[in-house]
Amino acid sequence: MPAQIIDGIAIAESVRNQVAAETQSLIAETGIVPHLAAVLVGNDPASEVYVRNKERACLKAGLKSTLHRLDAATPQAELLALVDALNRDTTIHGILVQLPLPKHLDSTQILDAIVPTKDVDAFHPENTGLMLQGRPRFLPCTPAGVMKMLHVSNIATAGRHAVVIGRSDIVGKPMAALLVQKGVDATVTICHSRTADIGSICRTADILIAAVGIPEFVKGHMVKPGAVVIDVGINRVNERLVGDVDYAAASAVASAITPVPGGVGPMTIAMLLQNTLTSARLS
Ligand code: NAD
Repeated sequence: MPAQIIDGIAIAESVRNQVAAETQSLIAETGIVPHLAAVLVGNDPASEVYVRNKERACLKAGLKSTLHRLDAATPQAELLALVDALNRDTTIHGILVQLPLPKHLDSTQILDAIVPTKDVDAFHPENTGLMLQGRPRFLPCTPAGVMKMLHVSNIATAGRHAVVIGRSDIVGKPMAALLVQKGVDATVTICHSRTADIGSICRTADILIAAVGIPEFVKGHMVKPGAVVIDVGINRVNERLVGDVDYAAASAVASAITPVPGGVGPMTIAMLLQNTLTSARLS
């Protein structure tokens, strides 16, 4: 039987619709309009597209969005001063600094400067700690999007073996942390660039999550028959978007799979809107 396709476009749309309805209620009850401030330094083409999509999604869901564009040569102190001003502005509920930043800037210092209550990307160590302890303020958008997809698709996690390929602070590590929480109850293995015999570990996964950044890294023979495969990867190959999973081969073996595009990608923005709404409520 061919794998069930987990439709990120449809699931993300339902999340955005829910956020839009709850935003309307919040505005009606309190007059507070959730407001996301995005900061784009330089003009990396992929970042331009991401920021534009985030702005559009905000407006469509009834949230306010403001874009601060800075020159690629902006010094660290100037960017820190902008973050500080946004931290103090009580009409702003979410601050997003689009990554990657130009090489001369210290991303860690910039992200740490965002006040944790407006850190809707959930990259601040305080929010990471709260998530790890199972009492999150915000969840990091991409892993939260994956959790939502698993939940909506009725994919059981308790007692099942989840293998996450990738250990980045943005995807791999928080993904593993969410899967191991009480209530989710997966048994989790994290694989990375120094993992030995990765194929045989992947073949033991009931849920296999690829966040590697290498086109079609996961081959069909790395997938256990009947496994659920979540492809976080977004790679540009000859102007085409390709995931971290060989989709044709893996979907012949898996029970369910996310496509690229149209899988995890749309979920990330939907969860960002959700976090901005949560922040406005907490304010
Ligand atoms: P990253 O480069 O920070 O991390 C990649 C991870 O893969 C590293 O931890 C590394 O240890 C591991 N890795 C690299 N080579 C490996 C190998 N040969 N074997 C096993 N592991 C290996 O990337 P990231 O930010 O975590 O992103 C991963 C992918 O997800 C990228 O394709 C990125 O574009 C995509 N992404 C998608 C979304 C989305 O919204 N869908 C969001 C963020 C990232």
